[in-house]
Amino acid sequence: MAETSTTTLGNNDTAQVEVLEGCPICEHVWNVQFDILAQLQYDVYKEGEPYLETNALYAVCGRHLRMLNRISSSKGSAKMLGYLIQKSLNANVFREFERKCPICERLETFDKAEVQRAAQAPLDLAKGDFVCLNHLKKILDRSHPEEKEKILTAYKDSLGKLFEQLKVLAVENYHQTDAEVRSSLWRSLEKLAGRE
Ligand SMILES: [Zn+2]
Ligand SMILES: [Zn+2]
Repeated sequence: MAETSTTTLGNNDTAQVEVLEGCPICEHVWNVQFDILAQLQYDVYKEGEPYLETNALYAVCGRHLRMLNRISSSKGSAKMLGYLIQKSLNANVFREFERKCPICERLETFDKAEVQRAAQAPLDLAKGDFVCLNHLKKILDRSHPEEKEKILTAYKDSLGKLFEQLKVLAVENYHQTDAEVRSSLWRSLEKLAGRE
C-alpha cells in the first residue's frame, strides 16, 4: 500500500480558475501539473540526487518521467535518469516501486479538492462549458440528490450550445466561421475525453 506523500515539491497550486471554455477543472489540473514539472526539472538540475531522494522521485511513474524528460535539459535528464538507473541496482528497489508516484499523488489530491469545491457551487461552472464527463460524474457523486437535477440541466445546456456550434462547422467553411464556433471542435473533445 502506498504511504502518504510528504514531499516538498513547489506550492503554487492555489491559483484561481480563469478558463471559461473546455473543462475548467481539467484545465486547472493540467496547469498545476505543468507548474510542478517545470519547477521540478529546474530543482533536479540544480540540486540533483538529494532533491530526487527527498521528494521520493524514485517512484515517479512512466508517464511523468517521459513528460519530465521532454522539458529537461540533457544535464537535468542525465541526473534524473542516472539516479533512477542507480536506484534500479539497489536490492530494495521493488519495495520502493510500490510507492505511488508523488506527482500523480499530488495531482489526485488537487483534483479531489477541485471537485469538492465545484460540488459546493456547481452552477458557477455553468458560465463556460461546464465540465468534462469524467468530472461531471465525480461532482454528481458528491452532490445532494436535489442538486443533481440542476447540475444535469446546466450540463445539458452546455452540451446543447456545443452541438449547435458543431452543426455550423459540419456545413460551413471552417475559416469563415467565428473563433468561438471553431473552438467547439477542441471544446467538444475536452468535454468527452477530459485531459488525459
Ligand atoms: Zn475535466
Ligand atoms: Zn505520475
